Amino acid sequence: MSIAIPSSLVQNGTGIPGVCTRHGEPVVLHRAVKFISKPPGWSYLLIIIGFLPFIIVTSLLRKEVQATAWPFCAKCVETHKNRMIVGWVLMAALPLSVAIGWNMGEAGVTVIFIALLPFIIGFALANRGSYRLLPWGFTSQDGSTVGFPKAHPGFVDAAQAAYAHAAQQYAAWQAAQQQQQSPYQAPYSQ
Ligand SMILES: [Zn+2]
Repeated sequence: MSIAIPSSLVQNGTGIPGVCTRHGEPVVLHRAVKFISKPPGWSYLLIIIGFLPFIIVTSLLRKEVQATAWPFCAKCVETHKNRMIVGWVLMAALPLSVAIGWNMGEAGVTVIFIALLPFIIGFALANRGSYRLLPWGFTSQDGSTVGFPKAHPGFVDAAQAAYAHAAQQYAAWQAAQQQQQSPYQAPYSQ
């Protein structure tokens, strides 16, 4: 299931559910997570000009939303650990292949080249296992919401409940403000 949470409610914490995003299970760990927007589709055309223009433009356009305490369950923590371990082991193939291939001449180059693939897979795996990417949430292009395209139904329900609660509180706060600011009240009442 997918759900989008208003960025302001992610930042102030009122829209963050009490269950994790992937499994909808009880929270055992809170972590600060920064959600960023994906580069817009057209920006990939800039890679033709060069990687640097692509990096510059996408970092200028990038919208960030910081959550101070994002929920993770025991399964999330387990997934994080496993991906980190396997990721780092695969990444270790590269320095290992350099050490082995260093004195092997041309064959050594092949050894190092072959180790590049597990290194890239390991890097991607460790990256996906990071607490930043585990919730699989992305800020919208205009920065107004954070979307979770692969959220657990339990998370979606809890997020909707948190949103309704936050909206209710906001309405109550707004009503109180309006009452205070009303020109027909306080100043002339005594
Ligand atoms: Zn989880």
